[in-house]
Amino acid sequence: MSKTSAQIYVLYTGGTIGMDGRPLAPMPASRLQRLLETMPGFDSSTLTLHPLDDRELRINYVLDAFDEPIDSSAMTPNDWVMIARRILDRYADYDGFVVLHGTDTMAWTTSALAFLLEGLAKPVIVTGSQVPLAQTRTDALRNLVTAMQLAATSGVPEVGLFFDVALYRGCRAAKVSTSAFEGFASPNYPPLATAGITIDVSESLVRLPPPIESSMQRPEHRARVAARLEAIEQALPRFSVLSLVLYPGIQTSNAIEVLLDATEPPVRGLVLQAFGEGNAPSTPSFLEALRRAHDRGVVIVDGTQVVQGSVNVDAYQSASGLEQAGAISGYDMTPEAAQAKLVYLLGLGLSQQEVEVLMQRNLRGELRAESGPTRGLVFAEH
Ligand code: ASP
Repeated sequence: MSKTSAQIYVLYTGGTIGMDGRPLAPMPASRLQRLLETMPGFDSSTLTLHPLDDRELRINYVLDAFDEPIDSSAMTPNDWVMIARRILDRYADYDGFVVLHGTDTMAWTTSALAFLLEGLAKPVIVTGSQVPLAQTRTDALRNLVTAMQLAATSGVPEVGLFFDVALYRGCRAAKVSTSAFEGFASPNYPPLATAGITIDVSESLVRLPPPIESSMQRPEHRARVAARLEAIEQALPRFSVLSLVLYPGIQTSNAIEVLLDATEPPVRGLVLQAFGEGNAPSTPSFLEALRRAHDRGVVIVDGTQVVQGSVNVDAYQSASGLEQAGAISGYDMTPEAAQAKLVYLLGLGLSQQEVEVLMQRNLRGELRAESGPTRGLVFAEH
């Protein structure tokens, strides 16, 4: 029997996977470690698997954790940066990374990590579960073991979200069920891999590894990414990014003004989850409020609240008002990806125009711009 082995880093941030009690709350990392050691195939530092070929796979793991593991509904952009930094600091020492995370805001974190970890050349697999690992009838063990195997052996140079039977691109995934084991979907991009008896990676759907000069394999590039994380962390207390789901009747309220004027720190980005292909009411006072915000420097993204498909601002006259007010198309980005991308780009200190251009450009496989070249400046790829 041939043997293969790999080293992976597992970061436990909290979430149902590590919860117990009633109502559920995250257990401390030391207890999760002890629980893990009672699971088949695990000891204190190794997971041994015998996939259905003649190899033995030994995954040497280190379990690290947030000082206080949290329910993911308490996650903030600061936590996204902290997770990215933990991975970056250990990048050279491991073959892959697993993040254990609550399902509620997992899609924001996986989107944010995709942007923050620019030049990633190893797998970062985020997973969690609907039922705690501590319970007998649970999806946690399967999700965890498969995520560890993907991190150890797949080589996928992306932030992925593994859940149930599928590995999704992190910046394409969305939570779609509060109770089904199939808790996530990727409505606008097929899964990168599916896990049945074997784990099958769809290589043609996976992003190519980054060019060597901008790859995290190089210490110089890692230093650049670390400096960017630092800059973003410094900038976070100085701006807000809001998300607003449009609804029939919004034009007769002053919701937009109140939201934009009363929010502290000041709003620099707004993700509109508009109707259909990016449509909105054309009431002058509503559009005027948006135009004023845009003139004050707010980046406004015309996204859709519809789960599948893309914004197409040319399809209906009712999208043209938003465009004239200064909104840019969110194409087929999920609201989670759009929000995380705005936080990332604004955190880098880019100008309104630069952010508008990059929001419409595919940076990590998060969007497909179907309607020709992007509006606005030609901006040097960074
Ligand atoms: N409230 C939990 C969390 O997001 C839900 C879960 O993990 O499934 O942390």
